[in-house]
Amino acid sequence: MFIGHFGVALAAKKAAPRTSLGTLVLAAQFVDLIWPIFLLLGIEQVAISPGATAVTPLDFFFYPFSHSLLADVGWAFLFAGIYKLVKHDAWGAVCLWFVVMSHWLLDALSHRPDLPLYPGSSTYVGLGLWNSRPWTFIVEGAIFALGVWIYARATRPRDRAGSRAFGFFAALLAILYLINFFGPPPPSARAVAWAGLGMWLLVFWAYWLDGHREMRTSPPLTPIP
Ligand SMILES: [Zn+2]
Repeated sequence: MFIGHFGVALAAKKAAPRTSLGTLVLAAQFVDLIWPIFLLLGIEQVAISPGATAVTPLDFFFYPFSHSLLADVGWAFLFAGIYKLVKHDAWGAVCLWFVVMSHWLLDALSHRPDLPLYPGSSTYVGLGLWNSRPWTFIVEGAIFALGVWIYARATRPRDRAGSRAFGFFAALLAILYLINFFGPPPPSARAVAWAGLGMWLLVFWAYWLDGHREMRTSPPLTPIP
């Protein structure tokens, strides 16, 4: 899944109002953000195989350290643990654990059975939503649209940058998704990895735009006596 993960990050802002959208995007996309690094280091592998599924030409034949269930549980604990240590926000850490885990669940919904349970496992999970282009478009589009709607309702811009940066963010994601959906297959696995690294820019953008927005119902910082 691609923009569905961003939909989860946007929606999670309502549950974790003190957590920046940047951190939520980093969490929702975490294993997809370390995956290109593992590809470039040769730790994991992907092949271009047009027709692998109706939606993606990528054959994810070896990615147990980023995308096995056990690895994702481990990344979720690491992510939430570091956040708790740095921010001292236990609730935010709990939310982030679920957001990191949501990645695996959404991938398990969309991928064909290529997600191992743990590194070395021969059991692969995947419900194969990607075998249907219309259903992928409907389901992923709906998750993303719902996330945009929830974030837009839960927060308000502090200034003009706050509304424009959010609008551009949502529009850019939708355009990237359409290019991904209707565009030609990538030329090489290396190109996939570099494009994947480019997704880090969206994390920084999310941090920046979230700083220009605030919760509509900001809870009082100190209890009223
Ligand atoms: Zn993924």
